[in-house]
Amino acid sequence: MSHDENAGNESPSNFIRDIVRDDLESGRVGAPITRFPPEPNGYLHIGHAKSICLNFGLAREFGGRCNLRYDDTNPAREEQEYIDSIQQDVRWLGFDWGEHLYYASDYFEQLYEWAEHLIGEGLAYVDDLSAEEMREYRGTLTEPGKNSPHRDRSVEENLDLFRKMRSGTFKEGEKVLRAKIDMASGNINLRDPALYRIIHAPHPRTGDEWCIYPNYDFAHGQSDAIEGVTHSVCTLEFADHRPLYEWFIENLPVPAEPKQYEFSRLNLTHTVLSKRALVQLVDEGHVSGWDDPRMPTISGLRRRGYPAEAIREFCARVGVTKQDNVIEMALLEFCVRELLNARAPRRMAVLNPLKVVIENYPEGKTEELQAVNNPGDETAGTRAVPFSRELYIERDDFMEDPPKKFFRLAPGREVRLRYAFFVTCTDVIKNDAGDVVELRCTYDPETRGGNAPDGRKVKATIHWVSAEHAISAEIRQYEPLFNEEEPRIGGSLADALNPDSLKVLTDCQLEPSLADAEAGEPVQFERLGYFCLDRDSDGDNHIFNRVVALRDSWAKIKAKG
Ligand code: ATP
Ligand code: MG
Repeated sequence: MSHDENAGNESPSNFIRDIVRDDLESGRVGAPITRFPPEPNGYLHIGHAKSICLNFGLAREFGGRCNLRYDDTNPAREEQEYIDSIQQDVRWLGFDWGEHLYYASDYFEQLYEWAEHLIGEGLAYVDDLSAEEMREYRGTLTEPGKNSPHRDRSVEENLDLFRKMRSGTFKEGEKVLRAKIDMASGNINLRDPALYRIIHAPHPRTGDEWCIYPNYDFAHGQSDAIEGVTHSVCTLEFADHRPLYEWFIENLPVPAEPKQYEFSRLNLTHTVLSKRALVQLVDEGHVSGWDDPRMPTISGLRRRGYPAEAIREFCARVGVTKQDNVIEMALLEFCVRELLNARAPRRMAVLNPLKVVIENYPEGKTEELQAVNNPGDETAGTRAVPFSRELYIERDDFMEDPPKKFFRLAPGREVRLRYAFFVTCTDVIKNDAGDVVELRCTYDPETRGGNAPDGRKVKATIHWVSAEHAISAEIRQYEPLFNEEEPRIGGSLADALNPDSLKVLTDCQLEPSLADAEAGEPVQFERLGYFCLDRDSDGDNHIFNRVVALRDSWAKIKAKG
């Protein structure tokens, strides 16, 4: 996809939006009610952001509402920490569910009654087959399944057994409640799917009240119906579940008839968007936690310094279709870079410092020079940057024996120090090993502000900081977490990981105004990239994350690979 497609368009059209609009025009629904239904078994990732932007975006655009509903039907994997993080992340992305915060567990009693209703109608039965036997009986894509020997239990026996399941008579796996549909159906989801299983584990919200829990399929559509959801939007892997979704809605006395629509999930190169794999990265210690700035989680991207607005713009550009595809990580970075280029204040920072002494500048003197905060935005104003006799410049901005196309500092050459003066390199000081450790320069006081009154030109402008005034910082530079474009997860994650995904630079020298930087507010280090204070910082221990480099480095990576 070209980077300019849908540019500046907050909610580009898509087939689901068209369906909603048609439903409003035809009067099938009043206002659209959507929902975002995370299972609290991990932190949200950028794939979820796509779903959040779609569901909350539709509600906002068409004057409806979007519920936040936890699909908390499997206590074995769910935790309060995840419940809390999900709300924080959705809010941070810029969306609000208002009063409409729900939990599938709120409906456990109603769902249970509906299960008894199905039993009463002869549409559900308690089965004794083990999980393995059930798999054998299920058949395959090409062969029909077989009926369970327990399929024809009487309504009374089924009710009795189901009530005993609820009261805790049985062990996990001993019994399940199944829908009685069709073991020969071409759709395996309709081959008597399990509705309730026994799990003897405390639930984060209902505690020990239940030891049977509804499956996703039995909980989801009915929860939609209870909440009056009009458009139940989910990812394509649920398309084969839609007939089951509709079977429940038809066969139960539900208060509304929600409809399910599917779109293709977001896949992104060089990372994984599956909670299962992300849990593994955290549990095995490959990353520092869910919010490690290399993680594709919302909390990781936030900590790294990605603005919520850039993530929303990315989701808008990716669009909503039914085509399976993999989006380039470069597009996400492009959205971040584009926004930060417009918004981020400019600062000067030297990541790999080389000391410069200005020999004709008075010792002990400091003067303040005015630096522009954002050349693209006059209202951002200017700030004062201190200048003194000893400075740091970037080691890469000097070469003792420069090749033809190197225009920056070299012996005998004059360059401009940004916002300051023209300086000329007069001497190079080396240590015993022959490494350059310091430069001696002279400056031209007539060039204050960066222009020579005699009109002479220099070929390069470099950034600098005053040694005495600079603050020292650690900089964390990130590369993709995985080397492969589409890492195959399953075997050892460690083998797929990029061992160089984190590079730490210490003793970087930053202009003093950066002592007041705030986490979550990225700045541009001129000529280097966008950086953001990390929350590990503390007092004089300044730590910055590189949000994104100034230019797209993916083309280069590709050429190398
Ligand atoms: P994962 O596979 O990462 O565990 P999930 O689908 O199990 O994700 P849920 O908590 O069930 O996670 O997802 C909540 C909602 O987010 C669902 O409606 C799901 O379809 C949607 N969603 C999950 N992953 C993506 C994705 N990569 N792209 C778009 N939507 C997604
Ligand atoms: Mg899920």
